[in-house]
Amino acid sequence: MNTHTQQQRVLVVGAGYSGLMAALRLSPHAHVTLLDPVGHLTERIRLHEVAAGRPESEVTHPLTARFLRHTRITHHTGLAVALDPVARTVTTDSGQVMPYDRLVYALGSTTRLPAAHHERLFTAETAPALHKRLLDGPGRLTVVGGGLTGVEMAAELAERHGGGWEVRLLTSDELAPSVSDKGRAHLRKSLRALGVRVEEGTRVDDPADVDADAVLWSASMAANTGLAVAAGLALNSHGRIDVDAARRSVSYPEIYVAGDAGGTQRMSCQAALPLGTRVAASIVSEGRGRGPVARPISYVLQCVSLGRHDGLVQSVRRDDSPRRLVITGRAAAFVKEQICASTVTSLTLAARRAGLHRSP
Ligand SMILES: Cc1cc2nc3c(=O)[nH]c(=O)nc-3n(C[C@H](O)[C@H](O)[C@H](O)COP(=O)(O)OP(=O)(O)OC[C@H]3O[C@@H](n4cnc5c(N)ncnc54)[C@H](O)[C@@H]3O)c2cc1C
Repeated sequence: MNTHTQQQRVLVVGAGYSGLMAALRLSPHAHVTLLDPVGHLTERIRLHEVAAGRPESEVTHPLTARFLRHTRITHHTGLAVALDPVARTVTTDSGQVMPYDRLVYALGSTTRLPAAHHERLFTAETAPALHKRLLDGPGRLTVVGGGLTGVEMAAELAERHGGGWEVRLLTSDELAPSVSDKGRAHLRKSLRALGVRVEEGTRVDDPADVDADAVLWSASMAANTGLAVAAGLALNSHGRIDVDAARRSVSYPEIYVAGDAGGTQRMSCQAALPLGTRVAASIVSEGRGRGPVARPISYVLQCVSLGRHDGLVQSVRRDDSPRRLVITGRAAAFVKEQICASTVTSLTLAARRAGLHRSP
């Protein structure tokens, strides 16, 4: 182990997929503090399952007991409310000022809400409330947004609540623009079989215009850049933090950005986990005096669940553009479930590895 890197204070803000992975990978090599408002990892990729009725407790994992217990990471529960990139500090909602040599900004993304708020409006982030509302049914549910998340939501909810609820999906574009024609044909067919009425080419700006008892808004995701913008970090044309090839902020190179918050990659767990690993490797390399490491991520698959018994596995090129090969049906549902489970497994393995290096 290198003494330079041991002396680095790395503050990781956000304990989602990318932040937690970065913290675990850095743990043997630096003084790592992990700042997150809640004491658990939420499997965001399963929030459509929660909306359909899966208990939230099954998709949340206590940070300390499951991942941090045997590592050298200091976990601090709190919300980052201010970033001072000149003084190199982050201030929490309890007023604590946390200094850093390197910051990993891993605040992820949330559903981009429409300008008008509406009481019938739900998002992935309010999945438990949506489930409660669906239990009060029957009624008409409209999912707005035909990207992969909107498709997964519509299918899951129709499969689980289809008896009482009429489910409709509205999307301004064609359904799931990122998959191949063959993949899209399967999505359309499966949604139809589940009773979902899909209306492509229908743009909605205001949920109040939607004739439904409940509206699930899934039109797009916005990177959590509030802290970064207030601190003067430059954003790119996607409204995410502008980063160099090593994922350092172009404004302040001691700030690394992991996951959805920065860059231009598809917002996904598939990218967030390896980005956490890459950011950690780059910080370790810098600490050893070797400079930052730039290693782009490459894609293999896009996976969509269509309820619990069907799915789509779309093979893609390294740049995420779709290839011809698709897997559908139960086999795809099985693959998708294995991939979802592997996210927590990979974090658990990283935690074990970090634990082995606990003693200096
Ligand atoms: C329903 C649904 C299904 C999805 N399915 C898939 C899928 O099948 N495959 C896939 O690859 N991707 C999927 N995604 C996308 C995936 O979940 C995200 O891209 C991924 O979670 C991004 O990881 P992240 O580490 O960047 O951020 P996140 O996982 O969003 O984590 C951000 C963390 O930051 C914390 N935080 C936020 N604000 C603050 C603050 N001020 N201070 C401190 N901490 C803060 C949060 O508590 C959270 O822990 C899905 C998303 C949704 C909503």
